[in-house]
Amino acid sequence: MNTSRRSLLFGGLLDGLREARRNAGAPSAGPLRPPGAAPLAEYIELCRDCTSCVTACEPGIIKLHRAPDNPGHPLWDKAVVDVSQRSCQLCADFPCIAACPSGALSADRSPAIGTARVTDSCLTRQHMYCELCRDSCPGDVDALRFGALGRLEIDEAACVGCGECVLRCPLSPAGLRVVVRHAANR
Ligand code: SF4
Ligand code: SF4
Ligand code: SF4
Repeated sequence: MNTSRRSLLFGGLLDGLREARRNAGAPSAGPLRPPGAAPLAEYIELCRDCTSCVTACEPGIIKLHRAPDNPGHPLWDKAVVDVSQRSCQLCADFPCIAACPSGALSADRSPAIGTARVTDSCLTRQHMYCELCRDSCPGDVDALRFGALGRLEIDEAACVGCGECVLRCPLSPAGLRVVVRHAANR
């Protein structure tokens, strides 16, 4: 098989795996709160469910939390972020924050929405080579590291939880997921 045909087939396989993983549901534990969100208890008080940030988010990743299987969740009806289909673009002007009238989102707080974690699915955890997510960090974030024996590691202090690395992983379930940094604080 020539190289271009092999590349084509490999690319098609990866596309198929990516599609299957996306259809399998959200890889992120959460729910995550939008950029600039207040600590959890304060956020629950401040978020008025007004949907201004939902409307302001061009990629459409902010939604009101209405998961039918979890109506008692403290974030029920509050604005949350779903990076399972599209990543947070960390928009230069953070229109989600600018749109918030209540202080639930503020430019004075960190824009990080969570942090990525490597899961047991990651090929580098199974002594295999893979670097498909290597260049996924936005801008200067640079939170992905390939350490000893090629093991993927996350610099959680640098990671902003945008979710792009999760979307780049062709596995189902993905070899990474985005989780809330600290349940109570961020
Ligand atoms: S930074 Fe941009 S993409 Fe991210 S949640 Fe805000 S508006 Fe949406
Ligand atoms: S704009 Fe602010 S108050 Fe309105 S839904 Fe979003 S986070 Fe809540
Ligand atoms: S490690 Fe993943 S979630 Fe974290 S900033 Fe980089 S691409 Fe985004």
